[in-house]
Amino acid sequence: MDDRQSHMLLALRQITENVSVQSTLEDAMSLLVVSIRKATGADCCSLYLVDSFKKFLKLAATDGLSKQAVGKARLRIGEGLVGSVGEKQELIDLADAPSDPKFKYLPEVGEDEFFSFLGVPVLNQGELLGVLVIQSKERRQFGPVEESFLVTLSAQIASIIAVSRSQKDSSSESVQAYVGEQGTGGIAIAKAVVWQPEVQLADVTVQHTKEPEVQQELFHQSLFQLQTEMDLNTLHMSENGKKDAAFGYVSGYGSLLDDTTFQDDVDTEIMANGLTAASAVKVVAERRLSDLASSEDRDGYLDLRDMSEIIISRLMNFSSRAPELKEDVVLAVRSLPAAMVAELKRYRVCGFISMESAANSHTSVLARDLGIPSVSGLHFDINTLNGRTVIVDGMNSELLVDPSESIIAEYRQMMLSGREQEDLFSREKYKEAVSTDGVRVRVELNAGLSHEEMTDLPEQCDGVGLYRTEISFMMSGSLPGEQQQVQWYRSVLKQFKKQSVTMRTLDVGGDKALSYLPIEEINPALGWRGVRITIDQPQILKTQLRSMIIAHSEYGNLQIMIPMVSRLSEIVTCKRMLSQVVKEVSAQLGREIPMPKFGVMLEVPAVIYMMDEILGEVDFVSIGSNDLMQYLLAVDRGNQKVSRFFEPFHPAVVRCLKQLCDKAGQRNIPITVCGEIAGNPLDAMMLLSLGYTELSMNYSELARVRYTVRRVSIGALKDIGEQALKLCHSEDIRKIYLDYAQSVGLGRVVMPAGAKHIPSDD
Ligand code: PEP
Ligand code: MG
Repeated sequence: MDDRQSHMLLALRQITENVSVQSTLEDAMSLLVVSIRKATGADCCSLYLVDSFKKFLKLAATDGLSKQAVGKARLRIGEGLVGSVGEKQELIDLADAPSDPKFKYLPEVGEDEFFSFLGVPVLNQGELLGVLVIQSKERRQFGPVEESFLVTLSAQIASIIAVSRSQKDSSSESVQAYVGEQGTGGIAIAKAVVWQPEVQLADVTVQHTKEPEVQQELFHQSLFQLQTEMDLNTLHMSENGKKDAAFGYVSGYGSLLDDTTFQDDVDTEIMANGLTAASAVKVVAERRLSDLASSEDRDGYLDLRDMSEIIISRLMNFSSRAPELKEDVVLAVRSLPAAMVAELKRYRVCGFISMESAANSHTSVLARDLGIPSVSGLHFDINTLNGRTVIVDGMNSELLVDPSESIIAEYRQMMLSGREQEDLFSREKYKEAVSTDGVRVRVELNAGLSHEEMTDLPEQCDGVGLYRTEISFMMSGSLPGEQQQVQWYRSVLKQFKKQSVTMRTLDVGGDKALSYLPIEEINPALGWRGVRITIDQPQILKTQLRSMIIAHSEYGNLQIMIPMVSRLSEIVTCKRMLSQVVKEVSAQLGREIPMPKFGVMLEVPAVIYMMDEILGEVDFVSIGSNDLMQYLLAVDRGNQKVSRFFEPFHPAVVRCLKQLCDKAGQRNIPITVCGEIAGNPLDAMMLLSLGYTELSMNYSELARVRYTVRRVSIGALKDIGEQALKLCHSEDIRKIYLDYAQSVGLGRVVMPAGAKHIPSDD
């Protein structure tokens, strides 16, 4: 090691130590740039940080450029030399930067006198945080010693920056940004109103009464009053066509009011143990909550806690109703009963945030279906938010508190361009998806809640590719019987009577829980789920198949599909039960019912090696890419920490999808994709390039995918598919589809405004 190297090594240690003890990020950054400039002998050192939209790199600190430009000078990721370092996440070391074609001149920063340029990316856990740059007036390349100094330093300071930024945006526009566990819908901007029952269980002190009869009467009156209010609300929702929301209302929450064992337990505490009504509710609720706390039933836990607090509030004469509001607000709550979601618009709530989140809870399912912007699973004290302006960014599961005018303006712009795009797609929503070279692509709907009120829905799609029956089961307070199920299935088959409707048998377990069928497992994703449950509980499967066949006997457009299949015997068992049910129902109705088409979902990688045998048993197959990717890539689909590894363009995913499509094609068996990738325009292009022509997606994605298909050439995409199969890095594969999208004017469609990816212009 020569003198220069050991000098740099010493400087490296000192800089990291000094920077880490600074009390603010601004101080740390200022010290950093000054120290680096001195240690390297450069004429200038600057730090650019990625802004909160992950679109721009903004000058955050400098020793050498104009101080006036700090917080103002910015380059898009990919723009100029700084932007290129950010985009490629690679260092650039040039002797004569201004003569490089990528060089971008920014008049306000005052870099006219500098020639040499060395820029390195600042990365934390693979995420770009910024770019660190040194420049000098001399035309000389810095070389390996400075390069390794800067690379090592940037790795060490990355975690300091990441921690500080999670609390406060470092630019001059101060804003607090919090990332939640999940989000729904688009963007809402408004003042926050914090709402929670005035009384919390923990605050209630247990008291005794000398008049137990009076307390018992009070308890039953409160229950009755609450039940009546709920019935009225349910009626109101049903009148407005929100039948499923009404189910959620009554079941996820209201059914607890009908729970006679709960009432009996409270009565006993009052009459036998002499507790006041409020104390009795507290004691019974806490007893039940401690049982539920250790179970998987997060929804049941929250429903019981919320309902008990509301009853106690009533008993103690607090209103516990949602606040009366005069302007649109963002509601901030600890948790929100599914019951209230469908009512939010009535209370002038344009979005909501909650601290607690149950993955796939009733609340999220409803919020997603109704398109309400929300972020849940936020881990901080929301009580601090009352009256403050917030931005709820459901698309990125992010909450911004006290955003500056310019950030609000930028989000408003995103809302506007989002709306303009929606209008653009909407103008063509009834046009079939036919590519520019004449290939007809089926664009089908993934449904779970009924959309009966949307009478034109069948014209917006080519039928239902996936009807998730478990959503109605989740909304129900107990296992639904045959009559109830026939009613659900009949309404969907009737609405799409001229098209096929693919219903999936109950797919619970894993991340989807039924409150009345608690499953406790250490590793639920690999546990008792999907078809494994319904085969072990044949009565559940049989009732469901019977209900489907009864509904099918009227409309004849049903297809049945089995989820989470991992072995041939599961297919054989389900098929056998289906033929038996068809025979039984035919005999019962006294007429021949045609056998519905029967298919399976391809979600477990084992099926890749069993395709020949599986295809011999079924009429169609459908790829559940959410689960297939989860198992193929060993990435938990609901875990934010690893979500960046959930990559549709991973070479293994692309090659697997190609293999499955080809196999089905050879046997002439229709194959659909019904996971989330089918509804994402860029991913859908990849599917088309591999030979898929049937895609099934959520309602909100139909028009965008139809619009996309109508602008691409399948022939050209197939050539790109051939190239993709030869590549071995996700980013390289993704890029060739992005380039194609841009070449046909779909750059903004595949990267909607506000999506947290590197932006691309057409
Ligand atoms: C899938 O796994 O891709 C799928 C469609 O099923 P779900 O998301 O309901 O598990
Ligand atoms: Mg699945």
